Amino acid sequence: MHKETIAIHAGNHTDEGSHAVIQPIVMSTTFVRDDDGSTPKGFIYGRADNPNRAQLEKVICALEGGADAAAFSSGNAAGMTIFQSLKPGTHIIAPDDMYHGLNSQLKAMFNGILEFDFVDLTDASKLESYIKPNTGLLWIETPSNPQLKISDIKRLTRIAHENNIKVVCDNTFASPICQLPLSLGADIVMYSATKYFGGHSDITGGALVTAKNDGWWQNIRNIQQLGGAVPAPMDCYFLVRSIKTLPYRMRGHVHNAHLLAEFLEQHPKVENVMYPGLPSHPQYELAKEQMLAFGGMLSFNVKGGTENAIKVIQSVRLFTRATSLGGVESLIEHRAAVEPPDTKTPWNLLRVSVGLEHIDDLIADISQALDEI
Ligand SMILES: *Cc1c(COP(=O)(O)O)cnc(C)c1O
Repeated sequence: MHKETIAIHAGNHTDEGSHAVIQPIVMSTTFVRDDDGSTPKGFIYGRADNPNRAQLEKVICALEGGADAAAFSSGNAAGMTIFQSLKPGTHIIAPDDMYHGLNSQLKAMFNGILEFDFVDLTDASKLESYIKPNTGLLWIETPSNPQLKISDIKRLTRIAHENNIKVVCDNTFASPICQLPLSLGADIVMYSATKYFGGHSDITGGALVTAKNDGWWQNIRNIQQLGGAVPAPMDCYFLVRSIKTLPYRMRGHVHNAHLLAEFLEQHPKVENVMYPGLPSHPQYELAKEQMLAFGGMLSFNVKGGTENAIKVIQSVRLFTRATSLGGVESLIEHRAAVEPPDTKTPWNLLRVSVGLEHIDDLIADISQALDEI
């Protein structure tokens, strides 16, 4: 079936008691056993599992075409679970343009437990040179944040697998509508559900989807249930609700982002635009090959340095000055200012999460803001 259909139907159970069409929210933290002590529906205790969480995991898994999925209380909790599942001493190869919250997590929480190198993964031919005898995980993030760099999932995965290295791909920027890393060879896909899955800037959540239900995955499931970084039933309910419109929302995000990128690219006060759907993107051909659509995120460098970049974000009226992404409202951010001091992000870079407002209104707003320079 197609994604539009899966997003609406996968995992939904009509309520047997009330015949409600939409699966109700189950707040109960514990579940009744039968006389013989069995648990007929498989639910025992709310930390371990819950009907709304099970539904959320089913629909995410189905959209991704995976073997199983696990939901978490945030994207960072999902990422942390991967790192916790590795044997101490394992070496991780991660991108230099990695989501800064997970980069910081590795440095702050796994220093001395795991080894990690942050390298440029846009040139897959260099991967071999980063591999050590104890390398056990390759972390891919594409398109990357905030520079929209593209890494070749298929090629990187092939090299990693030849060297017995597992591959996890942070697919938050793309969503399963724009890219399916499992179909390109990745072992596990990671999501911040706070972004496009939630889509309305009002839920924090995360997810992992696996290609294989193997021993590694069972260890991950164990960490989810014993560690307890799980989403509440209400959050799962609202995520399921939001995911029903994900394919249509993504279409709007992609449409608007593409037109905004084209507008910015020809603007005399813009130095360059980073959007994988522009032929000027250095990895446009690769993006066309591995992505199903180019996504709703873009960054651009303003001519004249930091001062002008700040002037632009001070002058926008419709765009909201805030971090995060994937909501229906457009957000703009002076990215270097929110990243750690050693950031490689250029100081004249503005990152935009293109929302679902009318494109003419978005262009008119950014245009008047650029006129202020
Ligand atoms: C937001 C984000 C995360 C972290 O997710 P949270 O839900 O904020 O914990 C990880 N990776 C990427 C690419 C993100 O944008």
